[in-house]
Amino acid sequence: MNDCLFCKIRDGEIQGDIVFDDDDVLAFNDVNPQAPVHVLIIPKRHISTLNDLTDGDEAIMGKLFSVAKTIAAQRGVSEDGYRLVVNCNQKAGQTVFHIHMHLLADRVMRWPPG
Ligand code: AMP
Ligand code: ZN
Repeated sequence: MNDCLFCKIRDGEIQGDIVFDDDDVLAFNDVNPQAPVHVLIIPKRHISTLNDLTDGDEAIMGKLFSVAKTIAAQRGVSEDGYRLVVNCNQKAGQTVFHIHMHLLADRVMRWPPG
């Protein structure tokens, strides 16, 4: 867990471009944005993947959606639309093993995703 990049951003050991911060949730701009708006929203408590969720984690996962809604409104993309993505493990493209929700917006998204 000590090697977790997003825990280090949470702890200020690595600088993040923070856009939201409260007791439970942190959000920061993605360093390699795939859309004009690309924000990562994480639970502050380290959880590696969706497979590691346990009873009681429903509230924090629900809160990620609420924070996404708030950030989308702040960035002015609520009405045009946005996409929320959580990758789980290698074939889905997860590269950082601390659960994070991608908020992508301000361009037309393709479907299905590649
Ligand atoms: P995933 O592929 O779903 O695990 O997403 C990991 C995301 O973390 C990628 O979109 C990366 O661009 C992003 N990322 C990696 N390092 C950093 C960092 N230091 N600050 C912000 N985002 C990062
Ligand atoms: Zn972590």
